[in-house]
Amino acid sequence: MTVPTQEVTSGRLTLLVTRVLAPNPGPMTLEGTNTYVIRHPDSRGGVVVDPGPDDDDHMRAVSGHGDVHLILLTHFHPDHTEAAGRLSALTGAPVRAIDPDFCIAADALQPDEEIIAAGTRIRIVGTPGHTADSVSFHLEEDRRLEQGPLGASEGSMLTGDTILGRGTTVIAQPDGSIGEYFTSLERLAQFGSALVLPGHGPMLDDLSAVAVQHHAVRTEMLRAVEGVVSRFSESSPPREVTVEAVSDAVYSTLPRHLRFAAEMSVSAQLAHLGVPVRSGVAALDSAGVTASEPHALSNTARVGAHATPVSATSSLGAWLDHPEGGPLVRNLFGQAGVDEAVVAPLAKLPLQTLVTLSQGRLTQELVDDLVRRANSLGDGSDGRPQSAV
Ligand SMILES: [Zn+2]
Repeated sequence: MTVPTQEVTSGRLTLLVTRVLAPNPGPMTLEGTNTYVIRHPDSRGGVVVDPGPDDDDHMRAVSGHGDVHLILLTHFHPDHTEAAGRLSALTGAPVRAIDPDFCIAADALQPDEEIIAAGTRIRIVGTPGHTADSVSFHLEEDRRLEQGPLGASEGSMLTGDTILGRGTTVIAQPDGSIGEYFTSLERLAQFGSALVLPGHGPMLDDLSAVAVQHHAVRTEMLRAVEGVVSRFSESSPPREVTVEAVSDAVYSTLPRHLRFAAEMSVSAQLAHLGVPVRSGVAALDSAGVTASEPHALSNTARVGAHATPVSATSSLGAWLDHPEGGPLVRNLFGQAGVDEAVVAPLAKLPLQTLVTLSQGRLTQELVDDLVRRANSLGDGSDGRPQSAV
């Protein structure tokens, strides 16, 4: 399969779909979140899919595409949904998602439901796996702007994070599932050569071929993890299987900023294989660590080590990379029930922002306490902003 080289920018992509690229590029979001406006050329209003981050310029760009009749969400992750409430308030458009908690003035989406809006027919295709609430949107009547030599393509599919324009998606904790992801890819493969409009990255040709390829890649990854697990158990004495140790073995050359994604992926794969794991640094030490792979994401606090101070305005990424701050933040996420997968796309945002985004689960008090504790082991410096990451 050839992947077309295509610049990811805002603009009309197909007969019915325009992309508005959000200004939140990053390792997990590629060029940024693709907010899509679905609209028949004769319709005055449109349907906005995944309003994206709450950013003034982005909201203006989205609103510039005419009236908004409906807002749809592919899944709950904040890089797709953060601006939904604001866009709804601005336009009066209802918000619909699989998860009723994310709906505003409307019912939850039902798999196989057909929505008639903005002069188009939108079919809801349940595609859990990346998250339990992931859906895709099928536009049977869509086609590419320039007709290729093979004639009209067979519609388009907005896939959210189920299929990305590049790379493989993360099976996000706590509710992602590899088993469901495989089933979803099989479902998507039945939509023939539909154009793929992903939540991040460029548009792709031929949904069926793309889904089959992702299925093969994911199967291969699963085999790799399986191989490491049996190597561990056959070694003498047997090495304990931990997410960290398996990630080291499978993703030894992965850049450090993607380590999060690797660990989530391994953890989902071990769950799929039915391998019991204990996530722990002690086990990691005995399992040996690949020398080329820095271990910032599973460090325990290095007491007494000097570190650049972190503050409430330091980015989440800086906190996670910080020898004292990283374990504190992770521990707090665990206690507050905040999924690391949810916050990973927000690595560039100040820690402070999480107070709002966590909807009360992370309080200001906790953040202030974190700042005190993270710096009490270092030089005890003030809370001035810094830009490590
Ligand atoms: Zn996502």
